[in-house]
Amino acid sequence: MRKILSRVGLVVALLIMVVSLGACSSTSGSKRDVLKDDKQSNTITWGVKADTKLFGLMDVKDNQIKGFEVDLAKAMTKEILGKKGKARFIQVTSQTRMPLLANGNIDAIMATMTITPQRAEQVDFSRSYFDAGQAILVKDGSPIKNVRSLNRKGAVVLGVVGSNSVQNIKKFAPKARVLQLSDYSQALTALKSGQGDALTTDNGILYGMSIENPGYSVVGGTFTKEPYGIATAKGQRPFHNAINHALTKVENSGEYNKLIYKWFHNVKGFDMKGAER
Ligand code: GLU
Repeated sequence: MRKILSRVGLVVALLIMVVSLGACSSTSGSKRDVLKDDKQSNTITWGVKADTKLFGLMDVKDNQIKGFEVDLAKAMTKEILGKKGKARFIQVTSQTRMPLLANGNIDAIMATMTITPQRAEQVDFSRSYFDAGQAILVKDGSPIKNVRSLNRKGAVVLGVVGSNSVQNIKKFAPKARVLQLSDYSQALTALKSGQGDALTTDNGILYGMSIENPGYSVVGGTFTKEPYGIATAKGQRPFHNAINHALTKVENSGEYNKLIYKWFHNVKGFDMKGAER
């Protein structure tokens, strides 16, 4: 009897611990005011890609991440915090971006992330800051000319875990097998070593790969719409509003179009006029 009672006691104690821990983390999470904290530290911490040329790519020469999204984040930081405001960058992948935001390691995600209804259940999105579309990259001379020609038994399509591209492709080429790699540099290596017939993700990302890798081309045009949004944690209204406001300012000042020109004017096949705001 005693033994049973002490066991019950232990279970109750454990339950109390779990419940109080849960309460603790949820209150500290919801109490945090990201905009206020960032104003105090004069820093916004952005989650950006580091494996995606044109959007966010690590330059090994100086250890800096460079790309359109990095520059846009810097410009928006100045709008939100003032001229002396600092932007800090943390590398994310398609798979790690949502957990890193949920844990508070980053304040916002600006990482080629499409606004989707499923994701919007977990994060808040800004309005779209870039309109991409899904496409495929193949080796020149490949019999694959568009997404329809991938829809056959035996075809292998490469993609990245955590991207919606690997879900979308199942609708457009249901007969193909989808091989998911952990990031875009690994997916490209897999394509180059012949592990798949095509690599699929957004056109802008694929253009970045084709610039660096002559002999590989984006074919067949886009087959989805991928509006990119800046994700913030749920319940951070002031920060979310500041981000939308900063985006409008950067667009209206002409800075946005300057950045589009800087990163995309040399990219063959990129619709500059369509991208300008
Ligand atoms: N835009 C797509 C997505 O959000 C693909 C690019 C990516 O993997 O980030 O999933």
